[in-house]
Amino acid sequence: MAQKRTINFGAGPAKLPQSVLLEAQKEFLNYNNLGISVLEMSHRSSDFSKILSTAETLLRELLNIPDNYKVLFLQGGGSGEFSAVPLNLIGLKEDKCADYIVTGTWSEKAAKEAEKYGKINVVRPKVGGYTGIPEPSSWTLNPSASYVYFCSNETVHGVEYNFLPETKGVVLVSDMSSNFLSRPVDVSKYGLIFAGAQKNVGCAGVTVVIVREDLIGHTLNECPVVFNYKVQASNNSLYNTPPVFSIYIMSLVLEWIKNNGGTAAMAKLNKEKSSMIYDIIGASNGFYVCPVDDACQSRMNVPFRVGSKEGDEALEKKFLEGASQRGMIALKGHRSVGGIRASLYNAVTVEDAEALAAYMKDFLKENQ
Ligand code: PLP
Repeated sequence: MAQKRTINFGAGPAKLPQSVLLEAQKEFLNYNNLGISVLEMSHRSSDFSKILSTAETLLRELLNIPDNYKVLFLQGGGSGEFSAVPLNLIGLKEDKCADYIVTGTWSEKAAKEAEKYGKINVVRPKVGGYTGIPEPSSWTLNPSASYVYFCSNETVHGVEYNFLPETKGVVLVSDMSSNFLSRPVDVSKYGLIFAGAQKNVGCAGVTVVIVREDLIGHTLNECPVVFNYKVQASNNSLYNTPPVFSIYIMSLVLEWIKNNGGTAAMAKLNKEKSSMIYDIIGASNGFYVCPVDDACQSRMNVPFRVGSKEGDEALEKKFLEGASQRGMIALKGHRSVGGIRASLYNAVTVEDAEALAAYMKDFLKENQ
């Protein structure tokens, strides 16, 4: 039976579909009549092997992943993986160079980490602050780079790509942690995609890596063995103990996505939910202000200020308190940017977004 729950607009760990939580609850103490929980299950058992292969099969189906790509389930989160990317890929070419398109906190951190291992060319927006994507015609990319890196959705700033960066044949790498499976993606255009699970595909603990086979095997000597794609790929992600429970939860979420129409259906709903909020911001006569350029406003994380462009601290505090009274939580913007941020990942329903929209309208009327 579905229960009334707090509406969680958190950026991650984020809301999970209620049916997934109920399913996990139902099987929690006695998975598949084994008399044990998945939490207690050996990663070498045939039952876990089924969970792992179900997760991989569903992912391959949902994203139509070509056969020449490996799917890995690793630990270390998004941060572990943006560290693993240069360790595994910067050696693809002798020069050990890579291009990083920096559009927010996460690509900035990734570029800084990569600087430890090679020569990094950073493309940045001209303006201070991350509110847009630099015009692609202004990017100076290095044709002999091992790869071009970008973050397809900057979670902190709400900046999302709605186009595929053109790299003239250089391997494309994307951090999709906060918009993974929120829309269809042509995997064949990428060399590598990674995503931490705790936003759109499950809970913290597992990070998915989808990597083209021919890119595997150029790892730097200093790469920790658990991050070595060759080692993990040849061990089917079981070189060491994987996060069994997180992979199990992911398999349930993937099944939920499949049963709800796949990535195309997710994209439609995410557009509907985010448009609802952006429309209110746009019609508020400057009472709500989203700092992000129209062309790259994220459908996953909607950041906005209340009262003015810079944000009125007292009004924003009042907004958050009122939201909490209506059962809506985790709307506070990231501590580095302030203001409000509504995260509208796949599991956030249209009704959840409608509740926020109704509150924003009421708050506007009462405080404008
Ligand atoms: N990349 C993106 C886009 C993120 O949003 C985050 C976390 O929010 C990370 C990377 C880092 O993930 P983790 O905290 O799992 O290391």
